[in-house]
Amino acid sequence: MNSDEIAQSTRRLKLEAAPGGLCVVQDLLNSASMPAASIPDLLSDETSAQDWLAASLRTWQEQTGRTAPHITIGGDDPAALRDLRGLVRRWFTEDVDGVDEHAPRPLEAAITYRDGRLTYEPRGDGAAAVASLVHLEALLASHTGTLSRLKTCRNPDCGAAFYDRSRNGTRVWHDMKTCGNALNLRASRARRRHSPEPEAHPSPQTGEAVEVSP
Ligand SMILES: [Zn+2]
Repeated sequence: MNSDEIAQSTRRLKLEAAPGGLCVVQDLLNSASMPAASIPDLLSDETSAQDWLAASLRTWQEQTGRTAPHITIGGDDPAALRDLRGLVRRWFTEDVDGVDEHAPRPLEAAITYRDGRLTYEPRGDGAAAVASLVHLEALLASHTGTLSRLKTCRNPDCGAAFYDRSRNGTRVWHDMKTCGNALNLRASRARRRHSPEPEAHPSPQTGEAVEVSP
């Protein structure tokens, strides 16, 4: 993986980008460290945060067909972006209801009308401009129905943000092999530890152990 692929937070997890501009919301979530997979936090300092943003805006530009805004990351921005990431994660992991107290106020954007469409352009700079971009894309996606398909992996050690393209929209793991199986196995081991072990006898038909009630 070259440095550009590492900065592309969703691609480094070998995940497909969420459609349209929603990819920036996904990229923000996937910028987090994952110690289990030796993946560093891409928002740890100004340089890595700027690289992360450049890579994310390239994907955004490709997917929306719009010109990416110029946003420069300054000294306090990485910490503000990590806070923003924590807020956005709570949208997916907790039942957040009511006013978004941490949303940037006011959301800074210029709205333009062209060819029968309204588009927005985030204004300002640094973390405030990223926050406007992330909030506006999430808002648009929540109205087209795509936001509900952006999910965070149920494995608490993972939390990777993936876009659920399954027919029923019922995926809960970013990857069944690495997170689904590991967790299911651990849960069934824990269940066995906490419940009295029923006596097992080999089934005469299949040779598999069958549980026999006392
Ligand atoms: Zn996972």
